[in-house]
Amino acid sequence: MPTPAPSRPLLTAPPGPTQTEAAHEAWQQICTHLQGSLASQAYHTWFSPLNPVDFSGGVLTVQVPSRFYYEWIEGHYAPLIDQALRETLGDGASLSYVSGNGTEEDDQPPAPITVKQTTRPDPKPRKDPFEHGLNARYRFDNFIEGPQNRFPRAAAIAVAAAPGKTNFNPLLVYGGVGLGKTHLLQAIGNAALAHDYTITVRYISVERFTQDFVEAIKSNRADRFSALYQQVDVLLMDDVQFFSGRERTQMEFFHIFNALYQSGKQIVLTSDKPPRELHGLDERLVSRFGSGLVYDINPPDFDTRVAIITRISEEEAVELGEDVVHYLARHFTKNVREMQGALIRLLAHASLTGSEITVETARSALEDLLQKQHRPVSIDSVQRVVGRHYEIPPDLLMAKIRTKPIARARMIAMALCLRLTGHSLKQVGARFGRRDHTTVLHARKKIQEWLESDPSFVSEFETLIKLIENDSDPESP
Ligand code: ADP
Ligand code: MG
Repeated sequence: MPTPAPSRPLLTAPPGPTQTEAAHEAWQQICTHLQGSLASQAYHTWFSPLNPVDFSGGVLTVQVPSRFYYEWIEGHYAPLIDQALRETLGDGASLSYVSGNGTEEDDQPPAPITVKQTTRPDPKPRKDPFEHGLNARYRFDNFIEGPQNRFPRAAAIAVAAAPGKTNFNPLLVYGGVGLGKTHLLQAIGNAALAHDYTITVRYISVERFTQDFVEAIKSNRADRFSALYQQVDVLLMDDVQFFSGRERTQMEFFHIFNALYQSGKQIVLTSDKPPRELHGLDERLVSRFGSGLVYDINPPDFDTRVAIITRISEEEAVELGEDVVHYLARHFTKNVREMQGALIRLLAHASLTGSEITVETARSALEDLLQKQHRPVSIDSVQRVVGRHYEIPPDLLMAKIRTKPIARARMIAMALCLRLTGHSLKQVGARFGRRDHTTVLHARKKIQEWLESDPSFVSEFETLIKLIENDSDPESP
């Protein structure tokens, strides 16, 4: 599997490696840092199997199970590791790897022990009063567009191109877990800096903001804290629902928000729910949050999920059969992070065992993850629930009848199938009286329009989703 050239060498195991306490402690600190920046799936897949064996002369040595691990970690996480090293062990520290304990074949000849310093030029613009908190991995170009994220994505791109100069201030994107909110937020920061590296960008989660603020109060530096934030040109605040119940922090943020807003600085927020449903927050803050542009981001439909999986496998230079891609897209429907985690697990599994990736290997490698997923929704179930809800026999949903209430229910059912089942446009069309995929596409477009223009339709649609998810399907195992 080709990955970028590792920046640190892989060494052979030192004679009689013993895990020293210092190594363990240093590694713990790095792991805590990595856990904060990585999806837990990725962290557990790649970093849990590593063992710290030595820490001396500023060099931390960890043992990797195989060359594959080493190449993957260095190919994917080198900048993150550098940052973790710098922030936990200081500038002079470095990391070296030793290969596994001989249980896995390692075809490399013994290499002399050499150590590379990790200090790299810092690309961060010097004007920054503090770290921008951005991860270069999150960009617009690797954020797959679909009907469920089209508007927030477009707004994010507009904001990044002219921060503070659009009407989208603040921009708030809300939606469920693992749907790309943090990705979009970070992409705004990365793109804004790419347009103009002299501006000050700050990405921060509310959790972290709260911790920093509490620290600042304890050390009598609350004024400096506030002043620093007021110098920011683009403030990217992640997960504002966590302001709930934190009154003092909210108050602090309220002042920062007002100061930035009044001087035309850009504010972007994410949340797990719409502003009106944010409880435990000061009303003034909630009304500020909702005063700019508010968009929701929904779980991707089947075609978008396929595009995301295809994109990741292309990045990893792994060819996956269409059946495997569809298998993943069918089973991981609600959370892109979980779907991504499953794919990474699958790639690792295939590489470690040297086996080809088939639907069978996918099924066995992902067994435990699949159990946690909800049972996939069937088209039958959607038709049954929609029919029952609108008192239209499911047969009529499939028939060539175009009277208004029936056509409306049919379009809703089609859109729900795309959203909830693992089937494609073509497959859904086929199951609605052999209609063409363009008919399904039209239905999806119409539903999207209604969702955007009619709040009462939003609740109607959401009710149906809940009913379908709770429907016990007699035909399903
Ligand atoms: P959230 O903040 O909404 O919980 P994240 O932004 O952390 O979700 O997204 C979870 C993972 O899924 C990230 O690795 C992100 O890159 C990926 N992801 C989500 N949506 C997309 C998308 N549309 N295209 C590509 N990757 C996506
Ligand atoms: Mg997030």
